[in-house]
Amino acid sequence: MDLLLFGPPGAGKGTQAKFLVDLLGIPQISTGDMMRAERKSGSDLGKQFDEYMSAGKLVPDGLVLDLMLKRLTQADAKNGAIFDGYPRTVDQAESLDALLGQLERRIDRVVSLDVQLDAIVERVTGRRVCLDCGQTYHVRYSPPPQNGECTSCRGTQIVQRSDDTEEVVRKRYEEYKAKTEPVLAHYEEKGVVQRVEGVGSLEEITERIKEAIGVE
Ligand SMILES: [Zn+2]
Repeated sequence: MDLLLFGPPGAGKGTQAKFLVDLLGIPQISTGDMMRAERKSGSDLGKQFDEYMSAGKLVPDGLVLDLMLKRLTQADAKNGAIFDGYPRTVDQAESLDALLGQLERRIDRVVSLDVQLDAIVERVTGRRVCLDCGQTYHVRYSPPPQNGECTSCRGTQIVQRSDDTEEVVRKRYEEYKAKTEPVLAHYEEKGVVQRVEGVGSLEEITERIKEAIGVE
């Protein structure tokens, strides 16, 4: 199954994607992670990414698609993948559809995590992150330990990221509304979208997603 996890930035897609990886036995495709790995590997493609990324420029869609093709034909992704954070525009969605078509695949399911802006603001501004291992906490829902030691790695640098502010959240949300939300309409026309209420505990949301895609 090729599944697209959709929703505004801060809706919790990344966290849910990790559960789905275990549940469905297919990998999560993150273009950011893939590009970083490719740069590190020193491949030709990686060098091209490097030129754009080190200049702070946006990597052209065509190059991202080359990478996507490479990734989707690797053994662990042959039976499907979980897309999270890509496609971000209708153009990218159409390109991805065409690419999957070449592989005789398609986006089978789109799970849209519906979360209102106010809830995202609360979630993101309350987020705290361990600088050593990336473990996340929330001041209200899963507070960092009182002794200041990370529960995963015992690191002591649990901080608020500088871009986890209301201003940044609102700006990203507006961009999402304008450019990314139309992707949902694109897949709605194909009848593959399932909407899931994205507010609640992690477990509650995971249960709703499982129900939506018909997996126990
Ligand atoms: Zn940690």
